[in-house]
Amino acid sequence: MQNYYQKEIETMPVEQIEALQSEKLVKQVKHVYENVPYYRDLMDKKGVTPDDIKGIEDLHKLPFLSKADLRDAYPYGLLAKPLSECVRIHSTSGTTGKRVVAFYTQNDVDMWEDCCARAIVAAGGTNEDVCQVAYGYGLFTGGAGLHGGSHKVGCLTLPMSSGNTDRQIQFMNDLGATIICCTPSYAAYIGETLEEQGFTPDQIPLKAGIFGAEPWTEEMRRGIEKTLGIKAYDIYGLTETSGPGVAFECCEQTGMHINEDHFLAEIIDPDTGEVLPLGSKGELVFTALDKEAFPLLRYRTRDICVLSREKCSCGRTLIKMAKPMGRSDDMMIIRGVNVFPSQIETVLLNEGYQPNYQIIVDRKGNTDTFDVNVEMNADQFSDTVSGVTAKEKALANAMKIMLGINPTVHLVAPKSIVRSEGKAVRVIDKRKLHD
Ligand code: ADP
Ligand code: ZN
Repeated sequence: MQNYYQKEIETMPVEQIEALQSEKLVKQVKHVYENVPYYRDLMDKKGVTPDDIKGIEDLHKLPFLSKADLRDAYPYGLLAKPLSECVRIHSTSGTTGKRVVAFYTQNDVDMWEDCCARAIVAAGGTNEDVCQVAYGYGLFTGGAGLHGGSHKVGCLTLPMSSGNTDRQIQFMNDLGATIICCTPSYAAYIGETLEEQGFTPDQIPLKAGIFGAEPWTEEMRRGIEKTLGIKAYDIYGLTETSGPGVAFECCEQTGMHINEDHFLAEIIDPDTGEVLPLGSKGELVFTALDKEAFPLLRYRTRDICVLSREKCSCGRTLIKMAKPMGRSDDMMIIRGVNVFPSQIETVLLNEGYQPNYQIIVDRKGNTDTFDVNVEMNADQFSDTVSGVTAKEKALANAMKIMLGINPTVHLVAPKSIVRSEGKAVRVIDKRKLHD
């Protein structure tokens, strides 16, 4: 049986959701125009007033906001409520540059936690569950968001934060954790450690995992599900829109339902800004319909994905987004070819390797060098030198077929690539150091 946290919204007919979005958008644009001079200026420059926005069909008239605007306006420039009405600050992980800070009123926190609660219930969570939150706590939104959601569902919440893997495993087993929430790379690491300690999947009490905050492939999902003996669900969000829970996966595991009563999604062409029809691949843009303190309108996420309204077997009518396979700024241009780390991960997992790798890009003279360090599996460690060289060649060849350019692959010793307890660092682009 399918459970919902807020059934009426999660299964609302599309026309009704759209009417709700229109009503909220009109109010939100007024709120922002009146309270955020930075955005009012952008609207004035574009010649748009709140009166021009009568519903979601007018959304395209509004100016975009980008990460550069957030940095410009740091720290208070986009605040729409007095600080006396704000109760919380979070900050981005700073994966791609200077950190951005976001503010929350109590209503904002409640709305965000409801979104995370929807995700936990969609993953099968109830008040009978013990939910181990192994995302980092602190400025990062992962810990706080899932923690709040877990409380709302009534799970027994284990606020572990990330790190200290032996203690994670001990508490998971002693206290019978049934749901774990962390980054997929940390889930893979915990799985690997459990395996090393001799645990088989049926000895691990977990039944589900809610993993997000970084891109991960279907192959990686299957690997985690196998080692931990669970169903692994994706969850998506960003600090600018609250945190995790903007979108979450249901039992169908074919993309994430966007909480579109709170977050209105568009896909645009990242080069021209043109809005693309449903089903097109492009940059995801969000308008926060209910956020009070930090209500971004048409925020460009730089995440590349596809939206779809296909009927879902879970009964939810909320629009779905495909797994974002990297942001536009994760993409490397190597010898003129676009390369995403996720493509390399797919090849590795298809070829029977673990997703433990690091990409090193540099420039020698006018040519880009492209090296991929990949951990050998334990059974390959005893291979002869010529055996290893042949495997490196085979892997480089498989990558060439996927990417169109040839990397140099180095098989390195098992466990020699540093493990991540939060977001994994997959790329070292030394060219940026020379610029
Ligand atoms: P930072 O931008 O510094 O990493 P955040 O912690 O706010 O700060 O990260 C948000 C970003 O993380 C998103 O824009 C997206 O690129 C990535 N992300 C979050 N969840 C997922 C997911 N489930 N799949 C792929 N990428 C994700
Ligand atoms: Zn569904």
